Amino acid sequence: MSGTVRSVLALGSNLGVSSDTLVLAVADLVEPDDVRLHAVSPVVRTKPVGGPEQPDYLNMVIEVETDLGPYELLAHCQAVEEKYHRKRIVRWGPRTLDIDIITYGSLVSDDEVLTIPHPRAASRAFVLQPWAWMDAGARLAGRPVAELAAEAEDLAGLVPFEGV
Ligand code: ADP
Ligand code: MG
Repeated sequence: MSGTVRSVLALGSNLGVSSDTLVLAVADLVEPDDVRLHAVSPVVRTKPVGGPEQPDYLNMVIEVETDLGPYELLAHCQAVEEKYHRKRIVRWGPRTLDIDIITYGSLVSDDEVLTIPHPRAASRAFVLQPWAWMDAGARLAGRPVAELAAEAEDLAGLVPFEGV
């Protein structure tokens, strides 16, 4: 895929000062000229899904317009994760910053290194609900994102983040 593409990115944090980390990470993500901010969701506070006992998360999504290819965009997201000293110690364990690529244009990829659309996005309220608030017309896998959010099991554990 070449040229300019819209991509939805999901950010999550549950270690450190998560609200600051999210704001700084969004600024870093759209710092290069070839990644431009198109839309930003509200921030939500969510109960962890799976993994060990751990603090609540703050989550949000953004939509960017980018000239980067999908693997270049993944590398860029991982560089921003690293900047916040993300440690991958426990699978699904706490993290200072997680950035997932949810969609990349209309690309469908089942590569292990980059699976698009993100394989668990369609069932995760912490991705779907902020996305639906950001873009009321958004669709995923042929269904309205707002409908998928309403059906997600973890929706009950999600509240808008009101600040610390
Ligand atoms: P998770 O986000 O599932 O909690 P990680 O952030 O540790 O787990 O991701 C592990 C790997 O997932 C990364 O090394 C990356 O190559 C791969 N991956 C596959 N698809 C995607 C995607 N759509 N967005 C981000 N990473 C992805
Ligand atoms: Mg991830």
